[in-house]
Amino acid sequence: MTFSVTILGSNSALPTTKRYPTAQVLNVSERFFLIDCGEGTQLQLRSNKIKFSRINNIFISHLHGDHVFGLIGLISTFGLLGRTNDLHIYAHKDLEEILKPQINYFCKDLKFTPVFHYLNTKEPEQIFENKTVTVTSFPLKHRVPTCGFLFREKQKEPNIRKEAISKYDLSIADIVRIKKGEPLYVDNVLVPEEELLITPPPPRSYAFCSDTGYNPSMIPVIKNVDLLYHEATFAEEHQDLAKKTTHSTARQAATIAKEANAGKLILGHFSSRYDDLSILEKEAKEIFPETYIVNDGDVWNVET
Ligand SMILES: [Zn+2]
Ligand SMILES: [Zn+2]
Repeated sequence: MTFSVTILGSNSALPTTKRYPTAQVLNVSERFFLIDCGEGTQLQLRSNKIKFSRINNIFISHLHGDHVFGLIGLISTFGLLGRTNDLHIYAHKDLEEILKPQINYFCKDLKFTPVFHYLNTKEPEQIFENKTVTVTSFPLKHRVPTCGFLFREKQKEPNIRKEAISKYDLSIADIVRIKKGEPLYVDNVLVPEEELLITPPPPRSYAFCSDTGYNPSMIPVIKNVDLLYHEATFAEEHQDLAKKTTHSTARQAATIAKEANAGKLILGHFSSRYDDLSILEKEAKEIFPETYIVNDGDVWNVET
């Protein structure tokens, strides 16, 4: 089952020829969750061959233009493509007020409903759940109310081994009981669980943290996350700027990854002032060796 994130945009503030502003798509078994929607997101969805019709949920971290300017264009395109499914948008409550007049003006005959869900910018809160994943928002530390998002797979049920069904002549009721963890005795002898069940893989998790200053308060929420995306707008030499603009340095991002015991850290939201990002990678790796710089078009598999 796929659980991967495609980077659609990884620059801060300005689009450049190499990097678009922030947008990502999480692929959970070919259902796509869009995270932020900077300018150019539609083009990047096309370039990365992601089917628009598979996007039903959009998560917007905060209302700075580099994370949201692509949304009205995408909504308009959904309309032109004849979309009928509701589109769920999770964002700060002001977004509805901002977008509604634009939708009413530019997208008059939409056949679908954009449904706005307001984020809790004060406390972590589970905001989405389906059969395979939950999504939890949590507050970040930025100049405007901002949330990160934690996507967590649900624990799958173990599967029954086919050979066990015939060997022990198991009924449907037996299988249901065994899957629930009830023991099976044959002639008063316990059948070992591994002979009956295939243990499912452990659930995977992905956290998106942008934009934010150094924010240790989120560590308990993202503890043990498998893949952490954290902004790293600045190198250490510009830590004063990071503080002033409530962004993070690569080293601060790495400190969060280390404290949260993350599996892997990927960095993005780079300031355009750095032609060579290896300095950010180097500074982060000194704290957290499993750190990587992302590029637009990257696909990162989330692995435990
Ligand atoms: Zn930003
Ligand atoms: Zn911002």
